[in-house]
Amino acid sequence: MLTLALSKGRIFEETLPMLAKAGITVSEDPETSRKLILGTSNPNLKIIIVRASDVPTYVQFGAADFGVAGQDVLIENGLDGLYMPIDLGIAKCRLSVAVKEGFDYNSAVKQGARLKVATKYVNCAREHFAIKGVHVDLIKLYGSMELAPLIGLADAIVDLVSTGNTLKANHLVEVEPMMTISAHLIVNQASHKRNRKELQPFLDAFELAAQKK
Ligand code: AMP
Repeated sequence: MLTLALSKGRIFEETLPMLAKAGITVSEDPETSRKLILGTSNPNLKIIIVRASDVPTYVQFGAADFGVAGQDVLIENGLDGLYMPIDLGIAKCRLSVAVKEGFDYNSAVKQGARLKVATKYVNCAREHFAIKGVHVDLIKLYGSMELAPLIGLADAIVDLVSTGNTLKANHLVEVEPMMTISAHLIVNQASHKRNRKELQPFLDAFELAAQKK
């Protein structure tokens, strides 16, 4: 029996059609069911529903054989014990720097100002600003980053942007795209060796579904 770790929301919704292409349907919808372990039409596959940022942990420790996680989460978490064979091309977005409307980010950077940056993605942000040679004080937040520049907690945020609607609704502007993000399939390295025969058909199905996207 193999265990696939998914998170609710975009990752689950966009992984479902990929599983369907392999002829696999899931027994329940996690948005309406409170169950955290879901059966599938394949007796050899079950799905666990965990927080997006916990998916790599479940896979690293082998509690799940494989999982789907955004690159943002993988970069923050590190890839120890993980094999990352397939870019699924789903849950696409970008990681960007955004500031309050009217804040002249480029001038502040040119003048060598020390910027306060609020983000959930401190590792990505630290590396980005270090490469640019911008001095920053990073403030770790766990959500609602958009609020930080509005109430003076930070000059800028580093957050995921998809349509840009959330920034717009909060009078923020995207000033610097940092990287494009998509969800990847990750596999526990030990399980990949031990359960290769059982895993391979699923990996092939994901690979095929990703190519067709
Ligand atoms: P949007 O308004 O479409 O630009 O979406 C921005 C909001 O959705 C922000 O709060 C982001 O943190 C979140 N978001 C956007 N894309 C993703 C993604 N692929 N995975 C997780 N969160 C996302």
